[in-house]
Amino acid sequence: MLVAMDNDFPRPFPTGTALASLCEQVAERADTTRTVGPWRSGVFQAFAESGCLAGWIAPADGGTAAAEPAIMDLLVEVASRCLTSALALTQWASAVRILGRTDAVSRQRLLPALAAGRQFTTVGISQLTTSRQHLARPAVSATAGPDGWRLSGVCPWVTGADSVQTIVTGAVARLSSGEAEPRFFAIETASPGVIVEPPLEMLALSGSRTSCVRLEDVPVVAEIPPTGPAGQTGGLGTTALALGSTRAALRLIDHEADRRHSLGLVVAELRREADALGLEFQQAARSGCDAASRNNLRQRANSLVTRAAQASLTASKGAGFVVGHPAERLLRESMFFLVWSCPQPVTESLLCDLAGLAAD
Ligand SMILES: Cc1cc2nc3c(=O)[nH]c(=O)nc-3n(C[C@H](O)[C@H](O)[C@H](O)COP(=O)(O)OP(=O)(O)OC[C@H]3O[C@@H](n4cnc5c(N)ncnc54)[C@H](O)[C@@H]3O)c2cc1C
Repeated sequence: MLVAMDNDFPRPFPTGTALASLCEQVAERADTTRTVGPWRSGVFQAFAESGCLAGWIAPADGGTAAAEPAIMDLLVEVASRCLTSALALTQWASAVRILGRTDAVSRQRLLPALAAGRQFTTVGISQLTTSRQHLARPAVSATAGPDGWRLSGVCPWVTGADSVQTIVTGAVARLSSGEAEPRFFAIETASPGVIVEPPLEMLALSGSRTSCVRLEDVPVVAEIPPTGPAGQTGGLGTTALALGSTRAALRLIDHEADRRHSLGLVVAELRREADALGLEFQQAARSGCDAASRNNLRQRANSLVTRAAQASLTASKGAGFVVGHPAERLLRESMFFLVWSCPQPVTESLLCDLAGLAAD
């Protein structure tokens, strides 16, 4: 669904009452979003109209460059209403941040339309960061031709692939020197050679319309200059989503605690932990943090979100075990954090925990 904008666009990044009103719209559409995805439910239109999409883009490229703490706040709030919408937004944001590093002509062609929600984008880069790292051959390769780079291979995970006009993807480029170098490129989904498989049926978040995308000699529409390592996993955005999902579980336990006061202590203790983690997280968003601290936040957020979801199911008793109850959905959704954009040290530490082993 493409968006018509009025003249006062781009609006300031939503905070305060504007953020509350956006979150109300996300919550109202959450059931539909979980079935058809936020592009078709109108949530992405609401994101664009609220001015939130423009916040990820520099003013010179049609955006408003919101501050990191405001962006992180918004992600937590959206995730606490609808994790499917929040996931789609982070993938959009990841694509846009990479596109911000391309040349000025490509930025002008792509970014103003993305800021205004006239076009949608997403990212399919896990083949350079987390997926298929154990295989000898690169999942996607880029070959230079007379008219520029062409991509062939498989992007195993692309959220919203059937709902966007462009995908930012990663490939191993064969350079004229014979060396191979991981690089990011943008492609158009309408290009010949782009085959989007049907969205995956998953344990949760199937509304994110996450698909495998096959590329057969696909031309690129933008090339992003290499900047060292292929990409970062487990950024603060992933922790923001875990904190938001934790809040949703706490709201549910709170609701049960209204009638069963014995739950009060449980919810108070989980809330204390969530608030403390939230403060550290906000500090990291304000001042930045190194990879080890980022991984530490993500690891603790993963632990909290899965415990909070289990507590919400336990508090909801058998009723919460019935399909359609928010507790069973939150429990399934919490499992997402165990596999999504999870840095290796976080995965290893979790597996040690589960096995009762001391992590190094
Ligand atoms: C809902 C959802 C949405 C996502 N959306 C996106 C997105 O929009 N964009 C994006 O870029 N990514 C996305 N991801 C991908 C995600 O960030 C991770 O990259 C992904 O979860 C990693 O899992 P994998 O199965 O690809 O890992 P892999 O490492 O490829 O593992 C796959 C299988 O390979 C085997 N294997 C793994 N390691 C080894 C080994 N060392 N030796 C032998 N066999 C091995 C195992 O059998 C394993 O099950 C999404 C993931 C989810 C769950």
